[in-house]
Amino acid sequence: MRESKYRQLVADMIGGVGWRDLRADGLRRAPDRDVEITDVRCVVVEGNFPWNIIRVETDAGEYGLGEAFPGPAGEYVEFLKPGLVGQNPLDVDRLVEHMTQLVSGLGGSLGYSQAAVSGIEIALWDVAGKVTGLPIYQLLGGKYRDAVRIYADCHAGENLAAATEADPREVYAPESYAAVAREVIDEGFDALKFDLDVRIADADTATRRLSNEAIQHKIAIVDAVREEVGSDPTLGFDLHWNFTIETAIKIARGVEEYALDWLEDPVPPESVDAHRKVTESTSTPILAGENLTRVEGFLPFLTDQAVDVVAPDIQKCGGLSEFRKIATVADAFDVPTAPHNISSPVGTLAGVHACATVPNAFALEWHAREVAWWDDLHTGSPLIENGEIQVPEDPGLGLELDFDVLEAHTAPGQEPLEPI
Ligand code: MG
Repeated sequence: MRESKYRQLVADMIGGVGWRDLRADGLRRAPDRDVEITDVRCVVVEGNFPWNIIRVETDAGEYGLGEAFPGPAGEYVEFLKPGLVGQNPLDVDRLVEHMTQLVSGLGGSLGYSQAAVSGIEIALWDVAGKVTGLPIYQLLGGKYRDAVRIYADCHAGENLAAATEADPREVYAPESYAAVAREVIDEGFDALKFDLDVRIADADTATRRLSNEAIQHKIAIVDAVREEVGSDPTLGFDLHWNFTIETAIKIARGVEEYALDWLEDPVPPESVDAHRKVTESTSTPILAGENLTRVEGFLPFLTDQAVDVVAPDIQKCGGLSEFRKIATVADAFDVPTAPHNISSPVGTLAGVHACATVPNAFALEWHAREVAWWDDLHTGSPLIENGEIQVPEDPGLGLELDFDVLEAHTAPGQEPLEPI
């Protein structure tokens, strides 16, 4: 009963955007680019996070792949599909504008509904690349670099499971962080990030405050890692929005001597003023932005100089073109980007194309060190080599899925994607 009401709501809303309906039939096009979308599908793959793999299918014998984060993107894809089928997938901007209009009343054009739009947008670019025979970076305007630097997310020195199964004082020991940092450096990375918002003792977390002893523990972790890797590697630490302004400033000032590349999300994400106050109070660069969508979401943080680095999530912020808008505006304020990314090879490679096309992307996150089969999901050779990913030259994303591996990890109850 509930589901049928939802579907009726969807149907009503599709019918309710007649005034600004950006679907267009019969726009003039050369025959080899006269293509129509025939279906849009989303399947959840169980990685270390749910990976929403999206496929845009066409009548041209080509399909496009994209990825959305976070879920449940599939519901939104079903909602958006009637607005896409029959349209030419090469009109990427128009279709994104149409989708954004559609989701205005369903979660908001500045909210997480943009995740599905992002995943579909990436898949549209993949189609466009395959139809025209060009890699996505070329369609987006060309590249600044041949390879994109990858930073490895290292959690809290141990993986998340270890942190729940053992004494947190042992798991979160500074030596534990340093040991993992050494492993990652030895694997070829020269950029890495750890979680610093770990709890080692009982505390009244509701206050968002830390004792000086707890702050000293965090400083000891940063000290141990910097001592292990030396001064050159790019190094960030994540605080996951947990703290008050004054506690965040104490942490940020306490680690100034270690020349971090960023301290991430020190205060709750909603307040531009809180970010600005922390940013103005320390020489440690403050990074934020993985929660924000579309360039409008980033504007107040940039115009108020509330952050030093922005981290759009390309699977969430609106997609490849929207990331480029965000990066362009950020560059106008002399702010670099280090995109957030916890996706499969599909989303990661999309991020590589995007980062190649802007001057101010210095590193792209990789969050799947513990997923042994991450590279098995595609048919090519391992993507990350010596801490970077080469920008593909094949058409579109330059990635083909291994459909057997995809099916093996498809979430229960989901219909697997079959080869076309
Ligand atoms: Mg983060």
